[in-house]
Amino acid sequence: MRLNILGARGPYPAKGEPTSGYLLRTKEANILLECGSGVLTRLLNFISFDEISFIICSHLHADHTSDLGVLRYYLASRGKEIDLYIPSEPKEEYDLIRKGVYRVKEIENNMEAKIGNLTINFLEGQHPYKSFAVRIEVDDKVFGFSGDTGFKEELIEFFKDADVLLLNAAYTDKEVEKIEPEKRFHLSPKQAAEIAKKANAKLLVLTHLKPECSEKEHLLSAKEVFENVVLATDNDTIEL
Ligand SMILES: [Zn+2]
Repeated sequence: MRLNILGARGPYPAKGEPTSGYLLRTKEANILLECGSGVLTRLLNFISFDEISFIICSHLHADHTSDLGVLRYYLASRGKEIDLYIPSEPKEEYDLIRKGVYRVKEIENNMEAKIGNLTINFLEGQHPYKSFAVRIEVDDKVFGFSGDTGFKEELIEFFKDADVLLLNAAYTDKEVEKIEPEKRFHLSPKQAAEIAKKANAKLLVLTHLKPECSEKEHLLSAKEVFENVVLATDNDTIEL
């Protein structure tokens, strides 16, 4: 398995750096995970639009979905359709996305999907829009992605023994302390590192970094808890 980072910023882009988008490539499938603004132009560095096998969006915030609107034009002009896994809420966003070229598969909590030799599991996170963490297993390799979520104990078991764990770290450690636990909708670097450590992950990749974020501080802070950590903004290819 190979992970290409297409975009790792949120909730808006940085100069030359798209919002959320990741391409997970196995021998049999090219999975586009998140399709935020600017992601499609980056995807073309690796594969063509025709080579996308299917798409998963953890939730319907625009920094994770906005390029679906323009991918639609490409697919429609060629009379093509593609499978798209998304939550069914909020309804307004869902209705806007689902029409036409997208064959929508609604994600539900604890859902398991078998696609070819892939096993994909979903776990609902803590976020203002319904958002799902994703676990993808193929050929004894495990890839985990948090989507947008605050800390939840269940994430540790869900991500058990992940080879690569891609976790959002939109908050700083100081920020997260100031927010009441039930209103924490993202992770901080230390929280992400805690999950990686307890889940026995091999590599932690921090993503969904605010353009204003001090990346050095983020990395150092995570490293205090879990040594094997990198930033998604520093890497465009990670091998599993
Ligand atoms: Zn979000």
